[in-house]
Amino acid sequence: MFNALLLEELGKETKASVQRLNENQLTTGDVLVKVDYSSLNYKDAMAITGKGKIVRQWPMVPGIDFAGTVLASDHPNHQVGDEVILTGWGVGEKYWGGIAEKACVKGEWLVPLPGTMSAKRAMAIGTAGLTAMLSFMALERAGIKPDQGPILVTGATGGVGSIAVRLLAKAGFEVHAETGRRQHCDWLRQIGASEVIDRAEFDKEPAALESQRWAGAIDAVGGRTLSRILSQTKMNGAVTACGLAGGVALNTTVMPFILRGVQLLGIDSVYASTATRIEAWQRLQDNLPLDFEEQSEVYTLEQSIQAAHDLLAGKLKGRLLIQP
Ligand code: NDP
Repeated sequence: MFNALLLEELGKETKASVQRLNENQLTTGDVLVKVDYSSLNYKDAMAITGKGKIVRQWPMVPGIDFAGTVLASDHPNHQVGDEVILTGWGVGEKYWGGIAEKACVKGEWLVPLPGTMSAKRAMAIGTAGLTAMLSFMALERAGIKPDQGPILVTGATGGVGSIAVRLLAKAGFEVHAETGRRQHCDWLRQIGASEVIDRAEFDKEPAALESQRWAGAIDAVGGRTLSRILSQTKMNGAVTACGLAGGVALNTTVMPFILRGVQLLGIDSVYASTATRIEAWQRLQDNLPLDFEEQSEVYTLEQSIQAAHDLLAGKLKGRLLIQP
């Protein structure tokens, strides 16, 4: 038996509660993992609160990522005692996820913990950190260099945003951080932002082209914010889009693309290749502060329900860990 957060569909409502489940209910994969840490992501919060259509099968154990130790394996790449990371692949949406003491997943979905990285550090980074690194690598591939001008990061106090700020600052970029929470201005400067920009600036329909401000951007917000960024991106700049915290619609024109050569780069961490994941995890290990994991809040299974509500209400910042 093991404890897990279980989501059940009651009419149109989602009921979340901690329950004791049987190991033989874990039927997805060929590797059984003891979960040391999971993390609370925007997607998890939407699943737990029932505010977004995340869950594809009921009942569901949420948790789109976890790090832990292999307890049993029928997969040739993973042996008992190996330390592994899982992010994405529909886990916590279609398959039972990581907000639980145990999870069973397909061996090909797992990557080894890099070098000396602890499970706690892996989940302090989590899906958000992986996504921030994939966004950073996409800007790199687009040829964006620090001498081309500032990079804007949106939703900067969130998981993806705050890690993107750190990675860009470490690589020598001038980072401008967009946030709706000016009270975290000092913290954003501490982690590497040189300017903090108010969300309200982006909350209006943009003209097709506006003054050129950013060499690039890592956007976790979407909606009007992304439209505005595109119209303000410099000649030959690049903008990554991974999120929808501010909306899914994108009202733009072809002008930034055909008159300024701006590139819009989509980021999907869920089905990223294993090779890309391994490179990204190693670079995250090497480029985030040594004490990074100590800066996260840690919650129990029971506390994760309230934390999910608080995350969507904008009461939390940075990365949030669950220790089941
Ligand atoms: P968080 O909740 O940690 O951060 C989201 C941030 O977005 C908030 O902290 C807030 O930042 C900002 N925000 C929230 N609501 C609004 C709003 N209405 N308008 C404008 N800004 C808003 O989430 P994550 O960092 O984990 O994820 C960010 C986004 O990226 C989500 O949409 C998530 O689904 C997506 N995502 C996508 C992935 C992919 O593979 N494509 C993987 C991981 C995440 P502030 O208060 O600073 O303004």
